[in-house]
Amino acid sequence: MNIHEYQARQILESYGISVPRAGDASTPEEARQLAVELGGRVVVKAQVHAGGRGKAGGVKLVNSPDEAAEAAAAMLGTNLVTHQTKAGGVPVRKVLVAELTDIADELYVAITMDADARAPMVMASSEGGVEIEEVAANTPEKIVRVAADPLIGLSPYHARDIAMKIGIPIDLVRPATALISNLCKVFQELDASLVEINPLVVTTDGRVMALDAKISFEDDALFRHKEILELEDPEQNDELEQKAHDAGLAYVKLDGGRVGCMVNGAGLAMATMDITKTAGAAPANFLDVGGGAAEDKIAEAFEIIVSDTDVEAILVNLFGGILRCDVAARGIVMGAQNTATKLPLVVAMRGTNAEEGLQILADAGLNVTTVGDLGEAATALTVVLASAASSNKGNS
Ligand code: GDP
Ligand code: MN
Repeated sequence: MNIHEYQARQILESYGISVPRAGDASTPEEARQLAVELGGRVVVKAQVHAGGRGKAGGVKLVNSPDEAAEAAAAMLGTNLVTHQTKAGGVPVRKVLVAELTDIADELYVAITMDADARAPMVMASSEGGVEIEEVAANTPEKIVRVAADPLIGLSPYHARDIAMKIGIPIDLVRPATALISNLCKVFQELDASLVEINPLVVTTDGRVMALDAKISFEDDALFRHKEILELEDPEQNDELEQKAHDAGLAYVKLDGGRVGCMVNGAGLAMATMDITKTAGAAPANFLDVGGGAAEDKIAEAFEIIVSDTDVEAILVNLFGGILRCDVAARGIVMGAQNTATKLPLVVAMRGTNAEEGLQILADAGLNVTTVGDLGEAATALTVVLASAASSNKGNS
């Protein structure tokens, strides 16, 4: 689960980490008022669950309350598109209005769980503010990586070592060390999956502070943090992902593909990826219906796949174990009828009641090709995609 910057910075503050004075506003008038209270020179920042706002017009440095209101008016109620969002962007309902900070140096620090180290990993760099992905790709030696002990946390000498290595001026090493230690505490105590400060800044008047704040939480640990659950803003989530989540289904949207995939289990998802590639295409999404999904859940899953406008054909690849194929088939028929979809369907079913399932699909009068194995699935998918492409051409 992700939260907004204005929420994350409050968490940082409660752990003793310096952040600029700021408040959040939902109207231009509130933004103006905040700017008055903060002395006029402020930065107005769109609150969305995505980075890259600076380059996308979502961060405006202004010199007066009037300009702050103007900047807020330009952002509020629009959708912000950044390189981290989907094409349609995400809605801006709030802006953060923060006292303008005079920056001497922009640095980077983040903590994430490292599977190889089996521990929280602190990553820090003197090259903050810019795209850290570029630093990681072109000059990885500029990123310091230090694992924290999963039980004890980050030792003070490690935190100090990080501060020194990213070029914190010597007289600011002590507060920077405390800041890094406290960030680790946030990560561990709140079961975060990511804490990222970009930029961490050294100010011209000699302070170290977090100028941006991103915190993501481990979904499986949220039951331990009821107060964090309340920070959720479902409007920021992808609509279909949210719908699937509410239905207890796992849905993953992928960019650039045109095949909707319904599977049960991660292994089948991988095999389905292979089939799709063999057919010369790519998945637009994966919907994992999991183990014992009932008919109406399968129908809902199918409807979510159909709602994805990138989908030109649907590949169903199921293994009937706990999930019975006849139940799945009835669910698919229900979903297809509810949506009145004309999309071609390729279905591979094996395991419990597979023959019955395939029969149900064949009898339902859908645009369906049933196949016996994955090789046949790839061939059938190639055929339906070719005819989908040619009928698209015919239409245009
Ligand atoms: P992001 O682009 O979504 O990561 O948004 P950030 O909050 O990181 O802001 C982007 C950039 O705007 C920062 O890297 C800074 O260069 C600049 N910026 C943000 N706040 C301030 C500020 O208070 N003063 C100055 N001088 N620059 C700022
Ligand atoms: Mn940033």
